[in-house]
Formats: sequence, structure tokens, C-alpha cells
Amino acid sequence: MIRKLLDNANIFTPINRGRPTAGAAMQQLHHFPRGAILIENGTIIEIGERDQILARAGKLAIDEVIDAGGACVIPGFVDPHTHLCFVAPREEEFSQRLAGAAYLDILAQGGGILSSVATVRTCPEEELYQLTRQRALAALALGTTTVEIKSGYGLDTESELKMLRVIARVGRTTPLDVVATFLGAHAVPPEYRDQPDAYIELLTCEMLPLVARENLARQCDIFCEQGVFSIAQGRRLLAAAKALGFAVKIHADEVNDLGGAGLAAELSALSADHLLAAGDPGINALAAQGVVATLLPATAYSLRKPYARAREMIDRGVAVALASDCNPGSSYTESMPFVIGLAVLQMGLSPAEALTAATINGAYALGMADRVGSLTPGKQADFLLLDGKTPAILAFHAGVAPVTAVYKRGEKVSPTSR
Ligand SMILES: [Zn+2]
Repeated sequence: MIRKLLDNANIFTPINRGRPTAGAAMQQLHHFPRGAILIENGTIIEIGERDQILARAGKLAIDEVIDAGGACVIPGFVDPHTHLCFVAPREEEFSQRLAGAAYLDILAQGGGILSSVATVRTCPEEELYQLTRQRALAALALGTTTVEIKSGYGLDTESELKMLRVIARVGRTTPLDVVATFLGAHAVPPEYRDQPDAYIELLTCEMLPLVARENLARQCDIFCEQGVFSIAQGRRLLAAAKALGFAVKIHADEVNDLGGAGLAAELSALSADHLLAAGDPGINALAAQGVVATLLPATAYSLRKPYARAREMIDRGVAVALASDCNPGSSYTESMPFVIGLAVLQMGLSPAEALTAATINGAYALGMADRVGSLTPGKQADFLLLDGKTPAILAFHAGVAPVTAVYKRGEKVSPTSR
């Protein structure tokens, strides 16, 4: 048994409520200005004011005291929506977009998502692993201690399984908790250009059962959008996934209000993601069903689109989570502090709401809230030290991550001494 004490900490943490934190409750944090945390074997045993914790710890053998020196301490970020497993960011395409090219023209020239598919299909598994691992470690240094990574640049059975094996290996070989999501329905592959239903059939009858058998993912996702997959196709795939024991989530209402949020509510999905175009009925359905709305402001930022209606969602009682959407095209950032800054300054969240969205609600969006997302007895001791007095510093100190140390299960994992 290794027993540690985090001492002299100005602790802010969302409250563990047994369900996603929705609406006005997103503003409420526990704050221990002179706080401490007792940790055993990487698990939080007690948290509170330091006098009270020290009085109890005094009778115990402590193996290590972590002196926070009065620093602000928050839970590690949970990033519940990323596409970190890719070969290269599409930098030329970014320049073309800046020069005014439309995405459809870029696609017609062989760019866009299908160029990422082409490179992932031919990339050796070892190289794809090294690239993905480097990005996961970059996210860790910026404070992300739990990350979701989707497949979806393979779009054939062999390449999708390769991606999922890479994602699982990153989970085994880095300090992060990595949650894999099967997103074989990210786009219609070129081989199935005019027959998306046949591709849904392949996903349902061949890929999903294989992914389940090899235990490579426990979540299934689909990109429902005009010209990609319809709501009916989404319902078909995700119902099959649920029957195999997968939790489900949806890339919903990003460009057009197709009803993806409503489908997420109908299927009791873990989350509906994007939602830039979601209308009132969809938003109300998410609130009524307690489905997490995972918002991706770095994507709106990079594409120069209007942001999702986060303020209205929270005011209507939705549980909002924040994610980086890190991907090679529309949102190339591993930084949750950057995402929090956008949420606060561009979407009208308070710093407390943004912290709730970036930790506990992200954990619910991954089905991981029993282990991560808040500093609560029984959960992993995943926490960050910040160079600031409150979580507001994350939004205020723009363009940098004011994260001075990252602890995973009570171990300092960044910065590491070399
Ligand atoms: Zn995505």
C-alpha cells in the first residue's frame, strides 16, 4: 500500500452527483481554499480542509507528501471526443481554406477526410501507433488525463481494426486512460460511394461483431449529416451496436439540423456531439433524457463558423461537456485549456461551468464517471496544479496551458524529469 498526501492545495472540483451535471448545477463547485487529499494506491480516500485531513492522516504512515505550495488544484481533464489516430494534419488544406476554397472543392481535389483515409490505410501499424502516442502525450502535458480516441479513417475492416489496436496500445503504454470508440461510420468510403446502405450492412454484419469479439471498443459512433449518413441509417447501425452491448454516441446536427440530437435522446446515447445546428426540439430532447451535449468549440473556431448555443443549452437544463475534437482537418489542437478559453470567451460559459464540462460531464460522456472526472473519494487521484488562483486562469491566460503539473492515479506524469 502506498499512501500519499496532497497538502497545501487550493482545490476546486465539480460535485459527483451520480448523473451528468445539468443546467444551473454546472456552476456549483466544491472549493477547499486550504485543502488536502489523502490518496491510497492512486485512489482518493479523503478530500477536505487540510486541518481536518491532517488530523486523520497524522495517525497514518504517509509515504509521500505532495506539497502544492498553495497552488490551484483541479481534476485532470476528460476529453471525450478526439480523432487523435491519424497520419498527418492536412496543413495544405488549411491554407486553401484560408484562401477561400470550399470544402467540397477540396474534397473534389482528393483532399478532406478521404485523404486522411488513404494515408491511414497505407500507414504501417507501428508508425501509426508512434504518431498517435505522441499526440496523446502532448494532450497529457496540457492536462488531459482521460481521452477518447475514435477510429474512422480506415473505413474498411482491416484498417478500422488496425486503428483500434493502435488506440488500445496507446492506452496500455501511456499514463492516460484511453477510451476507444468505433467510428467506422465516419464517412462513406470511396468503394461504396453510391451505396451507403451496403456500407451500413458491412458495418453492422461484419465490423461491429468483430470489434465486439476482439473487445477493441465499447462505444459506437456515427456521423449523421446530409450527404454522409441519414438518421435512418444511424438508427439502424446504433440499434445493432446496442444489441451487441456497445454504448452509443452521434456526430449530430453539425451542419444541418437533421434530428441527430433527437436520435441520441431516443437511443439514450452517452452523448450527442457537435450540435452547431441543433434546433429547439433536439436541445429539449437532450435535456429531458439527460443525454450529454458534447460541444467542440475549437472546430467552430478553426472553420470560422458560429459556435453551438451552449448558453441556451445550459439554461434549458442540458448537461454540456467540452472536447477538443482533435483531428487532421477541422480542429487541430490537443489543448483542453484552449477549448475552455473558447467556451468561456466565445460561448458564454462561466469558468466553473467550463470546468464542469471539461471534467465530470466528459467522464459521463464516456461512461467513466465512476472512476474519473471529479476529486471524490473512491475515484482515481487524477489532478492538475495550475499557475493561478482559480480555474478562470485557464481561459484568461490565453494560448498557453497554465498547467504546471499533471498527476495520474497519484503519480506525477508531467512534467517528467529526464
Ligand atoms: Zn468528430
